[in-house]
Amino acid sequence: MKLRSTLMAAAALLSFSFASSSTIAQETYTLTLAETWGPNYPILGDTNRSLKAMVEKMSKGRLQIRIDSSNRHKAPFGIFDMVKAGQYDMGHTASYYYKGKLPNTMFFTTVPFGMTAPEQYGWFYFGDGMDLAQKVYEPHNMLSFPGGNTGVQMGGWFREEIKSIEDLQGLKMRTPGFAGEVMSDIGVAVTNIPPGEMYTALERGTIDALEWVGPALDLPMGFHRISKFYYGGWQEPSAELQWLINEDSWNKLPEDLQETLRVAMRTAAYDMYIQTTHMSGEAWSRMQEEHPDVEFRTFPDEVMDALRASTEKLLAEMAEKDPLSREIIESQAEYLQKVRPWTNIADRAYLNNSTIE
Ligand code: CA
Repeated sequence: MKLRSTLMAAAALLSFSFASSSTIAQETYTLTLAETWGPNYPILGDTNRSLKAMVEKMSKGRLQIRIDSSNRHKAPFGIFDMVKAGQYDMGHTASYYYKGKLPNTMFFTTVPFGMTAPEQYGWFYFGDGMDLAQKVYEPHNMLSFPGGNTGVQMGGWFREEIKSIEDLQGLKMRTPGFAGEVMSDIGVAVTNIPPGEMYTALERGTIDALEWVGPALDLPMGFHRISKFYYGGWQEPSAELQWLINEDSWNKLPEDLQETLRVAMRTAAYDMYIQTTHMSGEAWSRMQEEHPDVEFRTFPDEVMDALRASTEKLLAEMAEKDPLSREIIESQAEYLQKVRPWTNIADRAYLNNSTIE
């Protein structure tokens, strides 16, 4: 009798668990994602494909992501508006592309002479970075999450060598974000051009110089075929991409799927940082072997001094104009003051003693 009731209880429990799991399995959610990048774009696009694969596997198919590249939505710099309006549930882009609309978006990609990638991740996840990003995006009905880092970016491709600050006067250059403001301030004619149009613009002389990312993404673009001076970076020490998510779309997800998405975004972002390091190492070796005419350069001291002075001046002007700008600028400066002395006695001291050229 006792055995029978135990068996019946077990059977009841089993049928209950089958019923409830089949009910859950029926509830699937599909998020539409617009990316700034073209179809099958290496690294930046890989990050969305790896996010999609992770999310779908971890949720056992309950959460699906449908990715539209720029060839479908036709608005590489329209991600902010499309996600805000709910035309897409989420987007993958760089926050600083929207500085014309909302200047405070600039600080969440990178700042010239600012934090390196590990320092910036520290600021995002253990400092005030995430909270400040939400403060900027929430009034626009969006959530913002770090979307993958490129590490230190190169200063760009120049057709002519830059020997003095005079050489930069009136030079037409593609460079977005805060760096664009700084370059413009010291006399460069700055423009931003979507990735898909950059090669043609440089080839036809619409621009004289451009910066994109670094060897991993620059080599496939072919810039080395039309310009040979490759400058070291100052402007994007840690460019972080962003996933923007429409707040209503986020709120519709059950808590466990929100957490699945959050963890997958953090993992995919980390993967992008490592993948960029790996692929840039390979690409730079290949470039040196196959294109020995490419010359690495650093800007002369007078140019670097002018860039540094202009960055400081523009940051001070922005802090003057808007209390939230001031809060973000001060938060980043304070974080850097705290963490950089450690980076100096760790990474910098180590690399100075490393013997591999
Ligand atoms: Ca760049």
